[in-house]
Amino acid sequence: MKGAGNFLTGLCVPPVRVGAWSRGLASPSLLPLLVVSIHDVSPRTRAACDELIGDLAAQGVAKTSLLIVPNHHGHGHFLEDEEFCAWLANRAREGHEIVPHGYFHRRDRRPGESARDRWVTRVYTADEGEFFDLSRDEATTLLERGKADFQRFRSTYAPALPEPRGFIAPAWLLGAAAEEAVRAAGYEYTTRLAWFEDLARGRRMRTQSLVWSPRSAARRAISLAWNAFLFRRLDRAATPVVRLGIHPPDAAFPPLRRQIGRLTSRALARGRRPATYAEALDAWRAAGQ
Ligand SMILES: [Zn+2]
Repeated sequence: MKGAGNFLTGLCVPPVRVGAWSRGLASPSLLPLLVVSIHDVSPRTRAACDELIGDLAAQGVAKTSLLIVPNHHGHGHFLEDEEFCAWLANRAREGHEIVPHGYFHRRDRRPGESARDRWVTRVYTADEGEFFDLSRDEATTLLERGKADFQRFRSTYAPALPEPRGFIAPAWLLGAAAEEAVRAAGYEYTTRLAWFEDLARGRRMRTQSLVWSPRSAARRAISLAWNAFLFRRLDRAATPVVRLGIHPPDAAFPPLRRQIGRLTSRALARGRRPATYAEALDAWRAAGQ
């Protein structure tokens, strides 16, 4: 689990102009939604993911978007773990969405990196930004490998399951060339820290994800304050889709779990409907924008 969830949340992200999403998306026909995603799901993190899924179900969020890493840090491909695959198929049957999330979730350092690149790839995320600066061909190779893996997973464990519709890059770091590859691979949407993007229709919705940084006591304290503030802003701005991005290491810290629970129940009490990203995409499109 090393490095998972290594985000400087609240420290590196400038305040977002919530409500200023592009091209007028505040349609009354788009129900207010709550999308909870669990990142870095793999055989290595399954136990923590199960705990988080249990917490969310107890709060009334029975479905999430599960961001699956096919071969987490190269420590074992998910298809080699039959128990994990059966578990994942059951989660999908319950309504959770499967979203490919990188391939290895690891970025090798490159010679001649700029100071900005070093900061983004080593400080913002600890060498996890796999799709940050891939060429289109490099990205295509990994995407095709992932597509074949998920096809194999579906045919073996969940034949009725539709093909994944979205792709989300590790740490939301998706370079321009890699984004072209994701679009060309047929994925309909992606997300970044501050955006939800309909790749097929070329539109972005500005909605910053809540995310926690559990790496140190200081980061946890800042995360708690930042996420409380951000949730209030998103709520006041009547943001159509509020996003919670949860990572397996969050499960080890009761204060983070308690805040996730509080914010989740507040969102539901405010009339938000739990949805996966794929469902949010459909609702966005159905809004006729
Ligand atoms: Zn990740």
